Amino acid sequence: MTVSDSAPLAVELEPTGWDLSELLPEASEAVIFEHLARVEEAVGRFEARRAGLAPEMTPQAFLDVLREYEALHEQLDRLIGYGSLWFAEDTQSRAAQSYRNRMEQAVTGFYNRVLFFELWWKSLADDEADALLPAPDAHPHAGDYRHFLFDLRRSKPFTLEEKSEQIINLKDSNGIGGVLTLYSMLTNRLEFHLEVDGEQRTLTRDALTGYAFSRQPRLREAVYRELYRVYEQEATVLGQIYVNRVRDWHAEYVELRRYPTPIAVRNVANDVPDEAVEVLLSVTADNADLFRRYFRLKARWLGMEKLRRYDIYAPLATSDREIAYPDAVASVLETFGRFHPGLAQKAERVFAERHIDSAVRKGKRGGAFCSTIGPRYTPWVLVNYNGRVRDVATLAHELGHAVHSMLAEQHSGLTQHPSLPLAETASVFAEMLMTDRLLSQERDPLARRELLVAAVDDVYATVLRQAYFVRFELAAHAAVLAGRSVDELSELYMANLREQFGDSVELAPEFGYEWLSIPHIFHTPFYCYAYSFGQLLVLALYRRYQEEGEAFKPGYLKLLSYGGSARPQQILSEVGIEMSDAAFWQGGFEVVEHRIAELEALGGSLA
Ligand SMILES: [Zn+2]
Repeated sequence: MTVSDSAPLAVELEPTGWDLSELLPEASEAVIFEHLARVEEAVGRFEARRAGLAPEMTPQAFLDVLREYEALHEQLDRLIGYGSLWFAEDTQSRAAQSYRNRMEQAVTGFYNRVLFFELWWKSLADDEADALLPAPDAHPHAGDYRHFLFDLRRSKPFTLEEKSEQIINLKDSNGIGGVLTLYSMLTNRLEFHLEVDGEQRTLTRDALTGYAFSRQPRLREAVYRELYRVYEQEATVLGQIYVNRVRDWHAEYVELRRYPTPIAVRNVANDVPDEAVEVLLSVTADNADLFRRYFRLKARWLGMEKLRRYDIYAPLATSDREIAYPDAVASVLETFGRFHPGLAQKAERVFAERHIDSAVRKGKRGGAFCSTIGPRYTPWVLVNYNGRVRDVATLAHELGHAVHSMLAEQHSGLTQHPSLPLAETASVFAEMLMTDRLLSQERDPLARRELLVAAVDDVYATVLRQAYFVRFELAAHAAVLAGRSVDELSELYMANLREQFGDSVELAPEFGYEWLSIPHIFHTPFYCYAYSFGQLLVLALYRRYQEEGEAFKPGYLKLLSYGGSARPQQILSEVGIEMSDAAFWQGGFEVVEHRIAELEALGGSLA
């Protein structure tokens, strides 16, 4: 089936809701009860397997246990999936809320009861584990199972003996875990004051920072002054929490577990080599100047001599162009189809099976997402379609996720999901195809600017900003271990911002306290580079596509069809990509440079 002969099927006239009956025929008490009873029984059966787990068991007996574990996962994902989709469709529904809560509680309990399997597998010695791995021809999913089992054991070299692990667990929940809870409690109760339209208001942080998007320059300035005035007041306590976080990280991971560096902990978790992350961070810093060009342009559009850090999110005039839903759907499907007919066919399945909720309704969750429940289901997609140019790119993004999952649906549910570094590949790639197509048709300069600005803003926020957070963390971890004070950390942060913005943006001194307000660097150190990694990877792939055209496609589709069934490095090297190659990452920035050059060309004609 090609794209053109299937139009009547796919294109709905109006945005619609979705059909969840495949997951649960109806949400009646009787059906839910029957469902839970069946899962309960399966969990009980699996628990009975525990006694038989031993290094001496046959690979066939082990494979049977593993397949039962896989089936159990599928059942649990379905229970949870139905709850979260139903709730997203109507966040005001008490029934949905109560179903979701009930299932989350039940499923957490079930997972705890079967956790012994993974723990036992990780506890085996290497030769014992090897002897149990399913032979490649033992089952159609043998490769998936082998990768899943390998992946579970990746952190094994850094695992301590059982007693130490128990002590760390016990002490962490009241130690560093408790300290981080205090960070959340302290920052969540902060209050901010702002004068809006002549009225003094007391606001939460979210409500306050909402005004950073205001059209009034003085209001934007007031937002940041107030935000960091409050954080500065709390700097001693929050800074001490950070110092404890860093010292604990070092003591546990570097000294006890023997990770070579503090960031290596994250790299092992993401299954990305240390050198690749180093190259990513340095190539990103080398390209900071690109974004400085963009900020100078933005200053001109806003009629300012120089952009202030307050103005980064200042809104620009937008076009009033509207795109009707059927046109948006047709346009996305055609864009997918031009890349490869198979992609359009898969995206059409989402519409044909009514797995998309695109309508704007009161009570429906905002934003957009794609949810993959398992290989036997077509993914479910939620968007809030408003007819904006930007909404078409979002539709392409979410359908990109759906197509990625469908390309990997021949795998086990244990390995269908791509791992973190590859999770945004198909979605961002689809969005870029869509943006380029819309740009090729769009003549209205305001609409062109809207598309380009949305694309560059995304890259700034996900690639540059996040990479600079991690560059700060690298410096801050070293500084804390060298006994530096909280004020010195704020100076380091200022230096980091100056390096990022150069002379393109004016930085007021209060921004030195921004780092205290970033939860990620407290809760999950070095996590933020995963955003940069994922997004820049796609930009670099897109660059290859622009250069290679047709020749790029088979490798790209193969990459997607791996899902999460192999290590990221292996998947990429099979299509000729070396993660530690600076030139590959640089290619991604060439795509951005092209977009910025287009904006510069528009520049003069727009206010
Ligand atoms: Zn996404």
